[in-house]
Amino acid sequence: MNWDDYAHWGKHIAQWGADYHATLGDRPVRAQSRPGKVAAQLPAAPPDQGEDMADILTDFETIVMPGMTHWQHPRFFAYFPANAAPPSMLAEMLVNTVAAQCMLWQTSPAATEVEGVMIDWLRQALDLPKGFTGVIQDSASSATLSAVLTMRERATGFTGNKDGLSSKGQLRVYCSDQVHASIDRACWVAGIGQVNLVKIPGTGPLHGMDAEALDAAIRSDIAEGHIPAGIVAISGGTGVGACDTLGPILRVAKAHDLYTHLDAAWAGSAMICPEFRAALWADVEGFDSIVFNPHKWLGVQFDCSVQFLRDATAQQNTLKIEPEYLKTSGETVTNYSELTIPLGRRFRALKLWFVLRSYGLDGLRIRIRNHVAWAGELCEALRGLEGFEIVTEPILSLFSFRCPGDDAAQQRLVDAINDDGRIYLTQGAFRGRKIIRVQVGQFDTTRDDVMMAHQVIREVWEQVR
Ligand SMILES: *Cc1c(COP(=O)(O)O)cnc(C)c1O
Repeated sequence: MNWDDYAHWGKHIAQWGADYHATLGDRPVRAQSRPGKVAAQLPAAPPDQGEDMADILTDFETIVMPGMTHWQHPRFFAYFPANAAPPSMLAEMLVNTVAAQCMLWQTSPAATEVEGVMIDWLRQALDLPKGFTGVIQDSASSATLSAVLTMRERATGFTGNKDGLSSKGQLRVYCSDQVHASIDRACWVAGIGQVNLVKIPGTGPLHGMDAEALDAAIRSDIAEGHIPAGIVAISGGTGVGACDTLGPILRVAKAHDLYTHLDAAWAGSAMICPEFRAALWADVEGFDSIVFNPHKWLGVQFDCSVQFLRDATAQQNTLKIEPEYLKTSGETVTNYSELTIPLGRRFRALKLWFVLRSYGLDGLRIRIRNHVAWAGELCEALRGLEGFEIVTEPILSLFSFRCPGDDAAQQRLVDAINDDGRIYLTQGAFRGRKIIRVQVGQFDTTRDDVMMAHQVIREVWEQVR
């Protein structure tokens, strides 16, 4: 393909994207595909001769698209959102075109410097104090792994990387039982081990961990000769939106000199609104590390996960490695790959710049406030359905419910709703029971879209009951 063809097809695809979004609401949200159906339509071996882009795109429409779940659909209420606002998509086109590796300042100074400024814009948007810096990671999972590795290194006097862990005793990490599985996985990968991730039960209306129980667990571990390394708190757990009360946890961390990481992957975006910050984020500035995903709720498409660091030195001392081929001249510059596990880095800050400028913080706040308000309205409507139970009240824009019947009845209803296709919901578990989760957060969703969920749930329930 030559660059004139590229321009031709590029225009074609931009138009396709606009048309796709214009008609997205008419498609079933979850792919209505059976396992193996897409693969069966692809040739088993690669072609020896090149093919025309027109043919490739035709197959994309007929083979691939029917097997896609539409995450940008206005009635996507499953999991958490993965929004891709149009300015973000345009920025990604530019990033893809220049296709730079942004691992060091000198491998693209602009990428590093825009990243630094975007982290600081977001620091201000979230009202974190001056002095917090950070890094843009591919995912919250990577940020959490970086933080857990930092806990490990700090607790071993920065000798774990060098010596390995076999002589280091049992390092312990603490969190609530409401955290995302990425915390477990970080502990696996960091060599800490599942048995050394101590989970404190979530309690109260926000399902947060009790600071006294946390303190007791740490004291008992110390008495047994274990080595507490750090605490991972959560703002907006994946199951039901659990939020730890941060201040008391930070006081426990301070008393035991533990490194602290806050996973706010989903809920962090809402903290651009002062009222949610006041309700859920008091004392957040005490954390050593905070991660949130603009690639969930802020309209900046995957991947873009921002990790704030109160002092980047500990993470740098954990992850920085400088072979000869990565050495740069003496100028003091930031090399962001010193704070991440992968070396290679995409220019992720550009889409943040485009989105923040296009909408302004107010344009983003309006969306998030609407989502929270509409989720509350939908919750009240479902509460009114006979026999339905609201299991967890809305935390921001997430709540959960059950229809009458046992766990199997919940799954039957979820499956039937998703086969119907007008909306998409997923199940979860809470205190040993199956729940049906609802989250509102798609960038273009309207109040009508959200309230349609009430109608669909009622109609489908009538069919499957
Ligand atoms: C989505 C989510 C994650 C994982 O995010 P990735 O960026 O996909 O790794 C972690 N924690 C919470 C609370 C989440 O909602």
